[in-house]
Amino acid sequence: MNIKKLVKKEVAGLRAYNAKEVPCRIKLDANESPYGISGALKAAGRISTNRYPDPEANEFKKLLSRQLGIKPANILQGNGSDELIYYLITAFGGPVLFPVPTFSMYGIIAQALGENKVPVGLDENFDLNTADMLAAIKKHRPKLIFLSSPNNPTGNCFSAERILAVVEASKGIVVIDEAYQPFSSERGFLPLLKDYKNVVILRTLSKIGLAAIRLGYMIGHPEIVEEVNKVRLPFNVNSLSQAVAVAALGDTKKLRGFIKGVVAERDRMLGKMSSLAGVTVFQSEANFILFKVEDPAGVYASLLKAGILVRDLDDVVKGCLRVTIGTRAENAAFFSALKKILSK
Ligand SMILES: *Cc1c(COP(=O)(O)O)cnc(C)c1O
Repeated sequence: MNIKKLVKKEVAGLRAYNAKEVPCRIKLDANESPYGISGALKAAGRISTNRYPDPEANEFKKLLSRQLGIKPANILQGNGSDELIYYLITAFGGPVLFPVPTFSMYGIIAQALGENKVPVGLDENFDLNTADMLAAIKKHRPKLIFLSSPNNPTGNCFSAERILAVVEASKGIVVIDEAYQPFSSERGFLPLLKDYKNVVILRTLSKIGLAAIRLGYMIGHPEIVEEVNKVRLPFNVNSLSQAVAVAALGDTKKLRGFIKGVVAERDRMLGKMSSLAGVTVFQSEANFILFKVEDPAGVYASLLKAGILVRDLDDVVKGCLRVTIGTRAENAAFFSALKKILSK
């Protein structure tokens, strides 16, 4: 039996997401928080293992709705925001438009589901290219547009006027992926929901210390939530994750403190890295920094040899590596290793 002939052609053309573990001393490759919220794990001890989870994640949604000033009917929970990207494309279909470079899952999931992809290049400042975006919208009439702001892997926010121009031009849904919003100096796009029915905001707990529990959520008009909810698997977020999330989000002081710490370290690292010869550093509103070097593969390998794992993005943004902000000690180790490598 030829499995390659049996599988759908769109799937045959995909490669499994490269999530292999590279052994290292200092892990700065995946935009995780250096600070876990381990105290919240106590809440997991109170769940009943024999019962299915709350299929609606009511406690979690109630807490979020209080914190964000929206209704629970505006929120849908996902097993990470990745799953919600999957559900959005499952529910609405393509064409799926997104600027490039950006988060790879928009394209991967669209392809897995057999939907047309419309990638549109960013401008030279990594901002949206409004003319190209509007032309692509007119030509392809996308059902879904994904805008990651702050953008992964470039780190910048797209300008608000340009996002608004896309929202106004689109006859489909515009998903603003705010995975890195907590680290940004800008306010985010939640206020747009009042005026635009076609805007969906995507958020996740993964970048703020809870990547292990796989929990993301979308915020949008109840009619959109209702349609996406039809394709959601009934018990997609398990009881452990729901309990841990409620406990962790309840401690806003601790969460905010960690986020502030990461932002301060990011700004300090931006300054220090900018002073290094042989590095071009891109401004960041997220918990990582994209930087360009002459020999990205060599620098990547040398950093790894020093025990430090970063992300090689040379195939996505020519010459670039991405480093996640870690603890002060981790960042110091990264910086001194980089300095040494570049001075050779
Ligand atoms: C990390 C990331 C996500 C995925 O988050 P999960 O909730 O862990 O699935 C979504 N969007 C962007 C832009 C990301 O960088």
